[in-house]
Amino acid sequence: MGAIKLLKNALLIDGGGDEPLKNGCVVLDGAQIIYSGKEDHQVSQKYSDAEILDLNGMALMPGLIDTHVHLSLHGSPHYFNEMIMESPTLAALKAVKKVRRIIESGFTTIRTMGDKGQLDIAVKTAIEQGDIIGPRIKASGNCLKITGGHGDMFPNHVVILGMARIVDGPVEARKAAREQLKAGADNIKLMATGGGMSPGPPTVPQLTIAEMQAAVEEADKYEKTPAAHAIGSEGIKNALRAGVRTIEHGSFLDEEGIDLLLANDAFLIPTLAAFKTLKYGKEGGVPEYTIEKVRYFQTAHAKNLKKAMAAGVKIAVGTDAGTPFNYHGESAYELECLVKNGYSAMQAIQAATKVAAEALMLEDVGTIEKGKIADLIVVNGNPLKNIKILQDIKKIEMVFKEGKRIS
Ligand SMILES: [Zn+2]
Repeated sequence: MGAIKLLKNALLIDGGGDEPLKNGCVVLDGAQIIYSGKEDHQVSQKYSDAEILDLNGMALMPGLIDTHVHLSLHGSPHYFNEMIMESPTLAALKAVKKVRRIIESGFTTIRTMGDKGQLDIAVKTAIEQGDIIGPRIKASGNCLKITGGHGDMFPNHVVILGMARIVDGPVEARKAAREQLKAGADNIKLMATGGGMSPGPPTVPQLTIAEMQAAVEEADKYEKTPAAHAIGSEGIKNALRAGVRTIEHGSFLDEEGIDLLLANDAFLIPTLAAFKTLKYGKEGGVPEYTIEKVRYFQTAHAKNLKKAMAAGVKIAVGTDAGTPFNYHGESAYELECLVKNGYSAMQAIQAATKVAAEALMLEDVGTIEKGKIADLIVVNGNPLKNIKILQDIKKIEMVFKEGKRIS
């Protein structure tokens, strides 16, 4: 138990989707929220000894969540060089600055989706042990992919240092999932199809249903989240039939895929920020085949995302941060992308709070409610009027993680 803090005079956007509350008040006892609601005489009296923070009408929101981040990539177009030339140790040291930027930008939770040498698990541990400052991390360690699959373009000795564990067959998939869990992973990332950042067709199915099922079973036993990178419609459906909780990217999601997402209560993470590759790519030096492939699925991606939104599929914010020009600490751009594709500002905020927390099976964060963990941000301005202000780090006035003020 720590000191009591009372945050008053806030525009309270609690993540639950209700109208924002003017003159809102939140009381923290150590890491926990013990009151959230209107500021009235009774509350002020009850907590008269609390440390008072007058927010002067600024917005008070749950800490934001990015469900798809790579800490070993730097946002450089020359990612192959980095993947080959940098040791996991060097990449881990470079991640220290990234996680600090992420939390200072208002993101108090991230899920990492495949990092070399399982460095994300080490970074997570260093944060939990208080050695460095950063968000809560749900880590994947290495992702699982097939021989010659998405990301497996290097000689074998590099794969060992790389972001992936190569598996062929359900037995190997199960073993690799167990290895990640043993190392401390919270999520099992599966490559269900090809992708934009490596040679070969992006839509072709890769891990089979049986291979993914074996890994999902292991994740489920420990209540960890299974997730699938999936671009093509067959791979998306294979992953959902195998029981994954989140579909990453989902470009060629078809009607049947939408039905499966709804029936399984699964989530779509459209990672729209990853299209920055196209915006700056060619002059920036991104490989030509990446540009071509990403351009090929961009149109379908937007069209199918809108269909999923209309069908009521649960959509969470995930950026694929680390991919070309998609820098750590700029995750709030994804909310603007969701609004451009038809979401209201409130829906976009929920995709980064309540829905994202649900996708990651985090029951204690994502909304501002009595009894939940005090992951909060204070924003100088109203993001419901202009979602882009969340991208301005100077407007993120305060960040609290577990009741502790970080910035
Ligand atoms: Zn990714």
